[in-house]
Amino acid sequence: MIDVTLESVSKRFARAGDTAAVDDVDINIAAGEFFTLLGPSGCGKTTTLRMVAGFYFPTSGRIRFGTEDVTRKPPNKRDTGMVFQNYALFPHMSVAQNVAYGLKIRKVGRAESRRRVEEALAQVHLGGYGTRRIDELSGGQQQRVALARALVIRPRTLLLDEPLSNLDAKLREETRAEIRRIQREAGITSIYVTHDQAEAMAMSDRIAVMESGRVQQIGSPQEIYHQPANTFVARFIGRSNVLSLPVVSATATTVDVRLPGGGRITVAAPPEHGLTESATALVSVRPEHIGLCASTEEGALTGRVTELEFTGMATNLIVEIEGEPEGVMVAAVEVPAGLSVGDQIGLRLNADRMWVVRP
Ligand code: ATP
Repeated sequence: MIDVTLESVSKRFARAGDTAAVDDVDINIAAGEFFTLLGPSGCGKTTTLRMVAGFYFPTSGRIRFGTEDVTRKPPNKRDTGMVFQNYALFPHMSVAQNVAYGLKIRKVGRAESRRRVEEALAQVHLGGYGTRRIDELSGGQQQRVALARALVIRPRTLLLDEPLSNLDAKLREETRAEIRRIQREAGITSIYVTHDQAEAMAMSDRIAVMESGRVQQIGSPQEIYHQPANTFVARFIGRSNVLSLPVVSATATTVDVRLPGGGRITVAAPPEHGLTESATALVSVRPEHIGLCASTEEGALTGRVTELEFTGMATNLIVEIEGEPEGVMVAAVEVPAGLSVGDQIGLRLNADRMWVVRP
């Protein structure tokens, strides 16, 4: 098992002018870790993964596998296993021939190759499928063949680029659990690219959230969800509300802010938040940390319901907050019978779960 380090890695494409597709990225992925690059389309996650694979060389910066500098090494000198969105299997070959491909290139002997192919197919729960044709398999099975083909060469790192995108919702959930099981059993350092935040949260040990080529935050799913570093992360992960609230007073780790309804609450803040009295704090609050109350309750935010979205687990209320021109909030609540669009309601924020974010 090895760790993977990206040190001040940037990539500029000649055709794209001055803007960097990947801009000064520093990441250390621990040995055996399942690490995800997450962000919207065009944020630079695929370019980052391709530099780790060796398909692109960085314009500047270094990439290390353990202590070995691989920055300028071609892909075939890096021992990486790749899995792609479109599987990239050979349709005219059998499952076993597909899985054996990397071994053939590496001139592994026939008996050894057969043994390792069987082992890899068992690993992905496709034992006995060796003689099947690729087009006889479902999408989920094909993606497991692609995984077996990547693992059979015993790579030092496993790189996965949106491998579940072509599967339907149900199969995606099953296959993501399957990928995680296989990765854990193989104990292989893995980098996973996705734009799907639910997928990233469910699978990852840690996540790097990227935007415009830059890493916005690195942390566990819990850290990123509960303590987003800035407004981009707060809004991209889940569906956070970000309120601009006047600061009444502040300590090193908390900020007292005034709510539009006149109430005053204490909210946790990151180190070196730099906020002082009369500054404006940006405070993130998750929809599930908002409750309904009487609009007359002291300190309540009051507003008018503009939309009700039933999600199964709760209902998202979209509420226009009184006295706040841009103050639309989403609250995930159990809706009392009879509540409908246009009603006046009160909202109570759970200050214990709120968090000060940077702009
Ligand atoms: P997606 O999810 O849509 O694949 P991404 O986050 O993986 O997006 P990248 O594919 O890494 O993003 O692209 C980052 C930026 O670099 C984009 O602005 C893209 O247009 C640009 N880019 C990527 N590859 C090239 C290339 N070969 N030549 C020029 N520009 C490129």
